[in-house]
Formats: sequence, structure tokens, C-alpha cells
Amino acid sequence: MDTIKIGRFIAESRKALGFTQIQLATELSISDKTVSKWECGKGLPEVSLMLPLCEKLEVSVNDLLSGERVTVSDYQKKAEENMMNLMKENEENKKIFLVSVICGVITIIAVCALILLASYVEMPAIARILIIVFAIATAVLGIGAAIILDVKAGYFECPNCKELFVPTTSEYVKGYHTLTKRKLTCPKCGKSGMCKKRITK
Ligand SMILES: [Zn+2]
Repeated sequence: MDTIKIGRFIAESRKALGFTQIQLATELSISDKTVSKWECGKGLPEVSLMLPLCEKLEVSVNDLLSGERVTVSDYQKKAEENMMNLMKENEENKKIFLVSVICGVITIIAVCALILLASYVEMPAIARILIIVFAIATAVLGIGAAIILDVKAGYFECPNCKELFVPTTSEYVKGYHTLTKRKLTCPKCGKSGMCKKRITK
């Protein structure tokens, strides 16, 4: 917090309304020394005084803490920007997650089909071996791709501090996991635990 800037803003707002420090202090049932202290940037109003002070000065708490008037158009613009970014990110994550699931399903179907083919269809031994090798390669590539996509889609939530984070691929692969949770180390609090998969923030 820039107490100097906030102090100057309090003084300006007070003067703009034609109050003296004593008048403002009386309105708030505090001493004029306290008002003077704020205006010199030597301290912030305590929380219980914040709303009454803003009311008297006809500013918002956000204005006061910013040390300047934040315009309404800026507020809205900033809020909309944040919202759009969040929506875009969530949308992309959902798409990547879906592709990852499709990739996994196609891999499983393809590998099963190849194994059935190699098991039940009459063919020379060498063809059977080739099909099995091809099936293993498909499984490795397909599951690998599904994992990489899944790591990228969304976040894991730390059970301890609720931080959302994206693990490295190697950590992801190593981690013991259930269907929706995976044992990972949180980059924020450093604790490892069963982190829940979250597609959206
Ligand atoms: Zn954590």
C-alpha cells in the first residue's frame, strides 16, 4: 500500500468537500491527530473506519486504497478482460481434455482390434508378430499422447493450500493416481498429496 499516495488522496478528497481535519475527525468520532497521521502517509485508517471514512469523503474503498479515483469505465473494462480470459482458458482446456479422452479411447479400440486380429485370424507367424509389435507401438504412442494432452488440460488442486497448478509431464507420469486424483507435489506449499484434477479454474 502506498500510504503517501493514499494520504494525499484523503487530504484532496477532504479539501474538495470543504472539510477541515477537525471537522472530518469529529464526523468520525476520532481525534484530528489521526486524520493528520493518515494524510501525512504515516498510517492507514483501521478497517472499522474505512467505510465511514469513504462515505464521508464520497469515494469508494477501492478508490481510497488505490490513492486515486478508479473510473467506472476502467472497472468494467478490467472486469470484462479478466472474465473473457478466464472463459477462453476454460474453453481451451475443455477441448484439450476431450481430445485427450478421444485419443485414449481410439488407442484402446485400435490395440484391442489388432490383438483380436493377431489372435483369431489365420496368418503366417511373422505377420502375427508384426501386428503385435504394431499394437504395442500404437498403445505407447496413443497413451503417451493422451497423457501429454491431459497434463496440459486444466490443473491439479493442492489438497493442502488449494493452489491450482500444472505438473511436469514426468511428475505426472510418476505420480500414483486414482481416476480423478494424482499424487503430486504442490509448487506453492511444497507438500505432496492427492491432488484433484480440475478442468476449469
Ligand atoms: Zn499446496
